[in-house]
Amino acid sequence: MTPAKATHQKTKQHNRDLVLKTIFEHKSISRAEIARLTQLTRATVSDMVASLIEEGLVEEIGYGESIGGKAPILLSLAANSRYLIGLNLAQDKFIGAVVNLRGEIKEKVEIPVNDTDGEQALQFVYHILDQLTQRGWQPMVGIGIGTPGLVNTQGGIVINAVNLDWQDLPLAHLLETRYNIPVSVLNDSQATAIGEFVYGAGHHSESNLIVVTVKHGLGAGILINGRLFQGDGGGAGEIGHVVVQENGSLCRCGKVGCLETVASARAVLQRAIALAPEYSNSELAKNPGKITLDAIQAACQADDPLAQRVIADAAGYLGQSLANLISVLNIQKIVLTGDMACFGDFWLQSVRKAMMQAALTRMAQDTKIEVGTLEFKACILGASAFMLLENYSLLFLQPSY
Ligand SMILES: [Zn+2]
Repeated sequence: MTPAKATHQKTKQHNRDLVLKTIFEHKSISRAEIARLTQLTRATVSDMVASLIEEGLVEEIGYGESIGGKAPILLSLAANSRYLIGLNLAQDKFIGAVVNLRGEIKEKVEIPVNDTDGEQALQFVYHILDQLTQRGWQPMVGIGIGTPGLVNTQGGIVINAVNLDWQDLPLAHLLETRYNIPVSVLNDSQATAIGEFVYGAGHHSESNLIVVTVKHGLGAGILINGRLFQGDGGGAGEIGHVVVQENGSLCRCGKVGCLETVASARAVLQRAIALAPEYSNSELAKNPGKITLDAIQAACQADDPLAQRVIADAAGYLGQSLANLISVLNIQKIVLTGDMACFGDFWLQSVRKAMMQAALTRMAQDTKIEVGTLEFKACILGASAFMLLENYSLLFLQPSY
């Protein structure tokens, strides 16, 4: 191929992906509107749309409202024209799901995991994917994994996942060899952030977003200008392992007093049990052996002093960390998600109060914090959507140019 021809082909592919991205970002959209948003000519847009329709990726779904002249034909992504698999390895069970292009879960497989070693954890991943790839969802274009730990996404390597006993595991390579489709591997908090950004309630309109996942572990994902920011070593958002308490408890990372040891769901549970003997006026404290997250949640709603104290304290540490984050990034929208979200408004208001106290007043006032809507699905949807956002060409089954 001549260099001029190669450049021409690259431009065409770029334009085609840009048009597809624009259609992906809207429920429905006309050719004229695409041309306006992408600044491509109408002729180029029409050309690209024709090839997307031919690929089966886009369909005409009817007419929009006329603004003077002829009513425009509306285009939409063909939701079930391709499928992806998303995996969430950050729960007390591994959850895998087949997802369509609109983030709808078509089929789900779960395996409970408790104290597995590294090899067994990998076998569980194979087991889930063996099932999901054999159920006839075609064409299947990619697998996205959200895993706890530090990840080198570019190399598809899990550098260190303490819980799963994985070190320098070339997960993407192993899975690509076995299933023969593209695989991407992301930290679970980063995957969750993408899920909330793309499919959560109205966040796609923001260009910048912080999503903090608080479960047994704790981490954040940061989106800047609509793209995941991973930092130089892939660890951007690893706020859970910053030491916030001198002489605190031993963390599973080996340090003492990490944010995770005071602000996570596990921390709240342990602290409620530990403080129970000091609370004669608490219903929750009467039966320390029966304290669970659900019990703490019910007690919190009933204004139980022990429940409210442990949640407020945990929220206080998180709010201070958020103050640090917004002071560095000045991102004005924060979504909180994970097990701790079950404590609802009491937790949210306590986090907000602590952030207000710790950050520059004006910056804190301008920052909205809310609770996410997608729960465990955010990680699955984000892990699969990440592949698309990074590379729309993935959806093309044959090279069209
Ligand atoms: Zn730690």
